[in-house]
Amino acid sequence: MSNNKNHHVAIIGGGYAGMAAAVTLASADIPVTVFESAKQLGGRARGVQHNDVLLDNGQHILLGCYHHTLQLIEQVGGNIGQDFLRLPLQLTLHNRFELKAPNLPAPLHLLAGLLSAKGLSFGERLRAARFMLALNRINFTLPHDISVFELLLMHGQGDELIRLLWEPICIAALNTPIHIASAQVLLHVLRDSLNGLRSDSDMLLPRMDFTALFPERAAEYVKQHSGTVLTACSVESIIPHSDKIELISRPTAVSTAHTYLFSHVICAASPIAAVRLFRTVPELACVAEQIAAIPYQPIYTVYLQYPQQVRLPHPMLGLDRCLTQWLFDKGQIAGQRGLIAAVISAQGRHQNLKHEQLARTVAQELCEQLGIIEAPVWHKVIAEKRATFSCETNLSRPPHTTQLANLLLAGDYTAGDYPATLEGAIMSGALCARTILATIE
Ligand SMILES: Cc1cc2nc3c(=O)[nH]c(=O)nc-3n(C[C@H](O)[C@H](O)[C@H](O)COP(=O)(O)OP(=O)(O)OC[C@H]3O[C@@H](n4cnc5c(N)ncnc54)[C@H](O)[C@@H]3O)c2cc1C
Repeated sequence: MSNNKNHHVAIIGGGYAGMAAAVTLASADIPVTVFESAKQLGGRARGVQHNDVLLDNGQHILLGCYHHTLQLIEQVGGNIGQDFLRLPLQLTLHNRFELKAPNLPAPLHLLAGLLSAKGLSFGERLRAARFMLALNRINFTLPHDISVFELLLMHGQGDELIRLLWEPICIAALNTPIHIASAQVLLHVLRDSLNGLRSDSDMLLPRMDFTALFPERAAEYVKQHSGTVLTACSVESIIPHSDKIELISRPTAVSTAHTYLFSHVICAASPIAAVRLFRTVPELACVAEQIAAIPYQPIYTVYLQYPQQVRLPHPMLGLDRCLTQWLFDKGQIAGQRGLIAAVISAQGRHQNLKHEQLARTVAQELCEQLGIIEAPVWHKVIAEKRATFSCETNLSRPPHTTQLANLLLAGDYTAGDYPATLEGAIMSGALCARTILATIE
């Protein structure tokens, strides 16, 4: 085995992908340095301070099948039982639809849940169950990719079934409208969440903010393993040399630009940042263009702080035929009483509203649908305009290797089974780290 101290790996980006790479390398005793341009770690899954209240840049949900994410959170000191409110599979659109999976082994729990779902006719329930059985028979693999909408039509899923069940699932999982969303990627998610163990379909809602949940703990872990985590330290250029890569960081108010030399680099920056960094490196110009062609979808989270006694009938609740798609009661989830997070995923008419108007519309829907007549004490709208890549059919996603053998690419948008998710990000970071480990051992 070669001496680990001859190697030093740089990781550009301290989001979930970058920190997963850093933890995997640090645990194998490889020196790592993480560069994060923001003051805090977490990237698109980070805590945000507002009015002395800790929010997230967007309400996130994890699934029981996110095994890599859950394992890594535990590795850096988390406790899944305490860190999350864990809900068995249950989809409720207020007063309109309810799917509750009974306590049976998978996939019987799902089939029984579909057959007893409230709000659908018997024929629709049967068609939904048959659809799942048909997907099982083809092992959740299509001969070629088509849109989710086309797949649903091919399997006789009618308008109501699509609106009440499959469209909300597709938008929540892929953050992409069903007419353009990749059926194959959705099937990967359904395969792993609904067709695995019963616990794989559980929904996990964190009781803490997303920076604290993993990236901060991961940074502590990396430091304990002799690694370095630099925040507010943006990498501005990548310069390949024969067997090393030079990184130049941006000068700050208190320091001039630094240059650093590394044996390997993992670029786990957001796609836009990766394009900026790669375009000036001839060997990376091609992958830069591939990444630049990736389309995006937004996610809006509208936080409404109501008086403390206000609570929802469930910790997580959907609304039918409303601008608001999902509501989360942060009181029941994280002890932040009276705080409601309303999530609107993917493109839509809500993007035309000013934040003030959007918050008012959501509050109005809560009043009409749930009888919450109190006025919010404050609101905060967080619009992530490029929240995730648009998970469209046959989307070309870059692999984790590049033309430069010692420069690898991590991030939720890189090639993989999953849509843009924490699990996809974590898996990509760990894959890059394992690839480096395999070359130096
Ligand atoms: C509002 C919202 C809701 C979401 N909901 C869910 C959900 O419910 N479930 C789920 O699984 N996923 C969800 N996602 C997706 C999930 O957050 C992402 O897939 C994941 O966080 C991506 O992680 P990443 O590490 O690949 O990228 P990022 O989080 O984008 O990390 C990249 C990091 O690189 C840093 N960086 C950029 N340029 C440089 C540079 N030059 N030098 C140094 N650092 C740099 C950035 O600051 C950032 O911290 C949601 C995303 C959003 C925005």
